[in-house]
Amino acid sequence: GYRSRAAYKLKQINDSYRILKRGNRVVDIGCAPGGWVQVATKEAGPGGRVVGIDLKEVEPVDGATILQGSIDDPAAVAKIVEALGEEKADIILSDLAPNVSGMWEVDHARQIDLTRSALALARQVLKAGGNAVFKVFEGEFLNELKNEMKASFGKVLVSKPTASRQESSELYLVCIGFRS
Ligand code: SAM
Repeated sequence: GYRSRAAYKLKQINDSYRILKRGNRVVDIGCAPGGWVQVATKEAGPGGRVVGIDLKEVEPVDGATILQGSIDDPAAVAKIVEALGEEKADIILSDLAPNVSGMWEVDHARQIDLTRSALALARQVLKAGGNAVFKVFEGEFLNELKNEMKASFGKVLVSKPTASRQESSELYLVCIGFRS
């Protein structure tokens, strides 16, 4: 079994877009409790490498490196780069969510800010031609962020996995073909 319901969303996204491949080097941002890390380590296989990070402590996952820290902290970003080693990442996964206040506009703005940090990390650590998946909350700032993604990737596709509650305002942007 998986540690999170979110794991099924990543599985559905991967069933549709086949973005996780054997031997992939994967960075998973906002990875607690570790469901996406479980899916990614299985798909990447023993020849791959998975590096996860979260503010919260995460129970170890076999075959993955898990760091505790904030994506907004340059020291934590340096640790991700170090864990990747010589080669850059094939894919960045971001399921980042702020502590939800319940005020929808506030949560949307904070989530988009977090995702912008994930995009900045992607620009540093992705190899040319690499892919990314970013969870986003719908709202007024989404289009601007999507345009920033379009500047860095060949294609930006919008996915709403059925495993994601239909009434929620979350979507996943599937970004294909990083242009470094
Ligand atoms: N994909 C995960 C899974 O399958 O288990 C679920 C991720 S959960 C929806 C979102 C996570 O983003 C939370 O665990 C939260 O701690 C993390 N997060 C929020 N802000 C963060 C930040 N600045 N740096 C790192 N992680 C952050």
